[in-house]
Amino acid sequence: MQLYVALMRYLSTRDSGRRSAALGFEEILLAGLAADGGLFVPERLPTLDREAIGGLAGLPYAALAARILALFVGDAFGAAELSQLCLRAYGSFRHAAITPLVQLDERLWLLELFHGPTFAFKDLALQLVGLLFDAVLARRGETITIVGATSGDTGSAALAACRDKAALDIFMLYPRGRISDVQRRQMTTIAAPNAHALAIEGTFDDCQNIVKGLFADPVLRRELALSAVNSINFARVAAQIVYYFAAALALGAPARGVSFAVPTGNFGNVYAGHLARGLGLSINDLVIGTNENDILARYMRSGDMAIAPVTATLSPSMDIQIASNFERLLFELKGGSGSAVAADLTEFRETGRLPNDEQAWRHAARLFAAHRVNDQTTLAMIADTYHQTGRLIDPHTAVAVAAARSELAEHGGRGPIVALATAHPAKFPEAVERATGVRAPLPPALAEIIDKPERIIVLPNDADAVARYLRAHARRVRPSQGAA
Ligand SMILES: *Cc1c(COP(=O)(O)O)cnc(C)c1O
Repeated sequence: MQLYVALMRYLSTRDSGRRSAALGFEEILLAGLAADGGLFVPERLPTLDREAIGGLAGLPYAALAARILALFVGDAFGAAELSQLCLRAYGSFRHAAITPLVQLDERLWLLELFHGPTFAFKDLALQLVGLLFDAVLARRGETITIVGATSGDTGSAALAACRDKAALDIFMLYPRGRISDVQRRQMTTIAAPNAHALAIEGTFDDCQNIVKGLFADPVLRRELALSAVNSINFARVAAQIVYYFAAALALGAPARGVSFAVPTGNFGNVYAGHLARGLGLSINDLVIGTNENDILARYMRSGDMAIAPVTATLSPSMDIQIASNFERLLFELKGGSGSAVAADLTEFRETGRLPNDEQAWRHAARLFAAHRVNDQTTLAMIADTYHQTGRLIDPHTAVAVAAARSELAEHGGRGPIVALATAHPAKFPEAVERATGVRAPLPPALAEIIDKPERIIVLPNDADAVARYLRAHARRVRPSQGAA
């Protein structure tokens, strides 16, 4: 079987010039965001026929990942190097299947995406992307400094992915006293000389503003070669396509169609499912589950995308109003017109409402179903799942399960439906206990961090103070070749 396709090139979602500006994978990996502020998307997706997809059945996860990623990396990585990197990335997972499937009832399955080092699904992408960064930089003889802000899960996953890498230093800013103990300890107990968690005396927004300020300082940016591994990096999306294939193949694809219910915040995860379907995988329905921050559910149901204030919920990793990866879908809905995307997003930023486009919305509503799940239903779903199956699920996973059940109740649907389990229940013990009266047992690797010494660095809510800290602790001082 041959999976070879022409080298994939990438466009910016805001680029109107098209082909001329297309970039290769290595460039978009390192850049993250396009120079015009847009997000990178593949110029076109290859289609795998049934035979090609059938030929992927039964591969171990790392081998499957190497085959899928090969479609996206162009000439940036050879097949052997990519296989090695995938083996290393998923070698850190605690389950032999990497993403095991668990059956809940005749129709409904859970895909457990929390067996990586930080017990949430972001490890699936970041463990690999950290290695891809390091490999590319080593080859170029460069080093970079990654800076980001975190309200919890992303920070620990990014630190765990970048720790001990030769070409990277990483600094994650978190709001002091405003994240859970487990989340803080997952960051502060990492004993690696290049991985730093910084407690900022402020809110998450303050942390984000400091990061923006650092990136806006051209001298610092050049000196430290600042970079980001946030969720808009296309490499993360590409890595997330793999588990849709793994699950669908295990449940009978390509002969049988499978549906997925995805707990959605930034639209990265479910967009990866959309790309898996675009590659030819037999996916029937993609069902979005949102919490009370339901901008995407409102859009899919009515065509009206309007920002509302962010509400704190039991599923904090989805407390998001502006789903940054939605821009990638919008590019597709607008027929690949970067100027139309740029104009719409300017208006969205200015007025808080996306201009109405009936045709685009009807297209989107055919591609995705969506359900809003409030905290009360989230708790009820954790309780029901526990009573029916003996399994504890975390609140994000419960949103997916609730969305899957609503979809089955409303439309029946076809074939099996897979709810993505994005976090381990022990990461959100309060909600789980409130719903069931049972405390989720801490897995040994999480229990361990309770006894490990913490390295807590507190800095004021001040970009200059953070910049001084970075200059003093980042290993790199950029060689002059990068100064242009
Ligand atoms: C980040 C996250 C999500 C949301 O994923 P998106 O790709 O942002 O839609 C859901 N659940 C958990 C546990 C997360 O950490």
